[in-house]
Formats: sequence, C-alpha cells, structure tokens
Amino acid sequence: MSSALLAARKRALLGSRSVVSSVRWASSDSKDKYKIVVVGAGSGGLTVANQIFNRFKAAGTPLNEGDIAILDANEYHYYQPGWTLVGAGLKQKTETRQPLKSLVPSHLAHIPENVQSFTPKTSSITTASGRTISYESLVVATGLKTNWDNIAGLPKALADSSSGVSSIYSYDTCDKVWHDVDALRSGKAIFTQPAGVIKCAGAPQKIMWMAWDRYQKSGRGDQISVDFYTGMPSMFSVKKYSDALNELRIQRGVGGLFGHNLVAVDADNRKATFKKGDGSTVDVDYTLLHVSPPMGPLDAIKNSPLADEAGWAYEPEYGNVWAIGDCSSLPTSKTAAAITAQAPILTENLFSVVSTGKDLGVAYDGYTSCPLLTGYGQLMLAEFKYGLEPKESFAEYLGDQKTPSRIYYHLKKDLFPWAYWNHMIQGRWFGSHGFFRPKFPATTNTPQ
Ligand SMILES: Cc1cc2nc3c(=O)[nH]c(=O)nc-3n(C[C@H](O)[C@H](O)[C@H](O)COP(=O)(O)OP(=O)(O)OC[C@H]3O[C@@H](n4cnc5c(N)ncnc54)[C@H](O)[C@@H]3O)c2cc1C
Repeated sequence: MSSALLAARKRALLGSRSVVSSVRWASSDSKDKYKIVVVGAGSGGLTVANQIFNRFKAAGTPLNEGDIAILDANEYHYYQPGWTLVGAGLKQKTETRQPLKSLVPSHLAHIPENVQSFTPKTSSITTASGRTISYESLVVATGLKTNWDNIAGLPKALADSSSGVSSIYSYDTCDKVWHDVDALRSGKAIFTQPAGVIKCAGAPQKIMWMAWDRYQKSGRGDQISVDFYTGMPSMFSVKKYSDALNELRIQRGVGGLFGHNLVAVDADNRKATFKKGDGSTVDVDYTLLHVSPPMGPLDAIKNSPLADEAGWAYEPEYGNVWAIGDCSSLPTSKTAAAITAQAPILTENLFSVVSTGKDLGVAYDGYTSCPLLTGYGQLMLAEFKYGLEPKESFAEYLGDQKTPSRIYYHLKKDLFPWAYWNHMIQGRWFGSHGFFRPKFPATTNTPQ
C-alpha cells in the first residue's frame, strides 16, 4: 500500500474516532441534569428504575431515553440470595453475578461511578470523580455495608483457605463455605449470627440447616456437632416461625446459644470469642466456623443529610427523594422480597408527585419474606409484615407455611433466581403478585 494511501486511511480512522468520541460526549450518560437519578444498581435500583420507566410509558407520558440515570461503580450485579445456594453446593458462584453493564437497558443512562455526597437542598449529588449531577427526583438504593473488620481476626481467617472459616455473605467467600462444609469429617461446626440488623436475617441459619442435613445424609451426623451461636434472643424475629425453628433445632440436636455475639476469631488456634449480654466473653473451639458478619449503613448515607439517627436513608424531609431496599430506614427485614413490594409503591408515589404534584401517599405495609431452607428438598416460607405479623401468600392453597415443604424449596432454588434475572430487575416481577402489578388508587392514568 502506498504511503499516501496509508496516510489517507489513518486520517479516515482518526476522523471516525473523533466522531465516536463527540457522540459519546453528547450521550445521555454525560449530562449534568436528569429527570430521575437512581443511586445504586443492585436489586432495588435496577428494579425500581425500570418500573419507573415502564410506569410513565404505560400512562402514555413516556420518558425519553436517558431521562433516568442510574449510578453505580460496580463491575458486576450480584444475585445475593444465590450465595446461600452456592454455600450449600447447589449452584456455582458464577451463576450469581452478571456484568452490570449488560443489565442496564438503553433507556437508562448508566453512569459507572459511585456517589460520594448528597445535597438534597439543591437537588444534586456529587460523584467520586467530583462530577456534580442535579435531578428532579432522586431514588437512593445503595444497599448496606458489611462490617467484616468489626470482628477481630476475621478478614485474615477468611483469606486463609485452610482456616475452616467461611461466609456466604460475599461473592468471594461463598464457595469456600461449600468447600469447608463438604470437607468436614468430624468435629465442631459452629454457625454464627450477629446482634443487630443484617440483610436476610434467616440466611445465617439456612446455611446451618443445609450443612446439618448434608452431614446426616452422608453418614457423618454422629461425628459432627452443629451449634448456632446468635447475638439475637431467638431463632427468628417472627414468633410463629421462631417457635417452629426452635422445635426443629431441639429435634435435630443442634445447640442454640442465644445472646452470643461473635467478636473475635483466632484462626491459628481455631478459637472463636463471643460477647454475652452481661458483657462477659466466652472462647469456643471450632473445627468449622461459618460467620455472618455485622452490618450497618454505608458511610455515604450515614454522613449525608438523608440519614436518620442510626444512619439509614430517611427521606420525608425532601419531597423529591425516595429510598428503597437495604439502605432505607424502613423498619422491616432487609430482603430482595421486600423490594418486590416496595418498588411498585415507590414508583406509584413518585409518578404521582411528578405528574400531578401530589403525593399519593400509598403506604408500604412492611411486607418481606425469608425462604428458610431447612434441608435439601425442604423449606419453610416465612412471609410477614410490620408488627412481625405473618402475611402468607400460599397458606390457603399449600398449607401452613411454617411447615417445611418441597414446593417452597423449589421456589427458592429454581423459581426465584429465574424470576430475578429474567423479570424482577427488568421491572416486570412483583413478588407475591407475580407478573401482576399491584393496583393502586388512580393517580392520573392507571397502567394495566
Ligand atoms: C447471603 C445472602 C442471602 C440472602 N438471601 C435472600 C433471600 O433468600 N431472599 C431475599 O429476598 N433476599 C435475600 N438476601 C437479601 C438481598 O440480597 C438484599 O436485601 C438485596 O440485594 C438488597 O438490594 P439493594 O438494592 O438494597 O442492595 P444491593 O443489591 O446490595 O445493591 C446496592 C448497590 O448499590 C451500589 N452502591 C453502593 N454504594 C454506592 C454509592 N455510593 N453510589 C452508587 N452506588 C452505590 C452497590 O455497588 C450495589 O450495586 C440475601 C442476601 C445475602 C447476602
């Protein structure tokens, strides 16, 4: 090829690149103001961003592509309920994540950055790179913080592949759980739950029941003792399920040490230290230790004007701000199931404020659910609302939900992951309502 032709080709390429970059510059992820900004693209953020888009479209007042921006620096989106299934050897951990950018549809402007500060007085946020973005409406969906460091020695123990210490509470460690559980031939298996608020408060014992069942089914039950050390006063917050779980615990010979909060792990000597209600501590030897770490609000929320006294996102002071999911101050159990109930309500209230200027005031009843695996092929489906009152969807047809059943097991193992990846985060799945969006008092236009 002649040098003149080469030069002409190079010019053409450079030209086309500058066109691409100028298109990117003007694209919807580089504006400094959006109609709606959603912070966090986890279970709550993706679900609600898509529901909001769908709601305006159904009302005949569609938003333009890029009117809604979603911010999140994470490379992956995680289906966290799947980590329990990985810990039980039922799924591979790669099945529990997908690249975030592959899940953000073109009608949402994806800004791959985290928010550093919130300034609701000026309806603006500032990102980690210092970019200021203003909004007409804001939805905060940042999740919560897992405080691994609050347990002395835990990060080191988790990083050591031969320590016998593991946790389903992160992508990195959930496969170590199955490795350790399956490898154990004899000794003391200890499962912990911290005092205080955590996401999916049933998960610490779900993984214990799966391990217990594995040991019985593989003929190791007599050589391995299983104990539940919990910072909480009972097996579960809702009395009905707690009583049933405690009965199961006694029947199965599983130790229940209540009011025991894990504070330190000495991996070299395989000793766990628990703090009791009276302030004293007790050291316990273990062969296998499964840790559910303490959790709390993220610093970006805790240090913002949106925080309540405990640091959770609380927004009533600002008429154009909403919070959903684990970051919110809603006094209910923090689950993806709760998000399926919160998202359509948030969407309807936001839609009403934006389109009529009036807050419709649709109230959330605190619905949440905890699919409590009690063994392979069995699950107790806890569903409840504010006041820790059961609110069961299937009891009428399938019998009392405190009785473990195979049907509920398959909901958790097969149906929920499928519904999550294929419908929930696209804004088309409404939890206990399935594909049917709950009905609300009419705003301006009611979508079907
Ligand atoms: C082991 C385990 C088992 C579980 N089991 C169940 C179950 O069986 N059933 C159930 O319903 N739920 C279960 N859950 C709980 C469920 O996964 C969570 O409640 C749910 O994912 C919460 O969604 P979220 O959007 O609030 O937070 P997340 O899904 O955690 O998403 C938060 C997002 O916000 C992003 N973010 C954080 N800070 C910022 C910032 N400053 N700026 C921008 N973005 C930010 C994060 O990167 C993340 O992508 C389980 C959780 C775990 C860990």
